[in-house]
Amino acid sequence: MNPDQKQEIKQAIIEKMKALKKSVETYNGLSKPVSPDNAIGRLTRMEAINSRSINQASLTKSKRALQQLEKSVLKIDHPDFGNCQNCEEPIPIKRLLIMPETILCVACAQGIE
Ligand SMILES: [Zn+2]
Repeated sequence: MNPDQKQEIKQAIIEKMKALKKSVETYNGLSKPVSPDNAIGRLTRMEAINSRSINQASLTKSKRALQQLEKSVLKIDHPDFGNCQNCEEPIPIKRLLIMPETILCVACAQGIE
């Protein structure tokens, strides 16, 4: 991987982190407890609770992805960055640009999933 590609990936990570931070904020706001006084109707409250748990799941997912990206940013200058952690082959740059948090090449990721 040349320094230009590294820079490109770094940029992709930063952009992705920005987007994720925004979704974390949004989901944080949406997953506030549903107040019982908010009783417009029983069904509405059930719906509110349902969508709240969906929001919480999305929140957890976004937070996890953010943590992974934070790790990737720290590792980017490491000589092993961009190598598959399973087979040690370089991960294609296109894959790294789309999902910079990945630590596996396509073949290994498919093998594990
Ligand atoms: Zn691999």
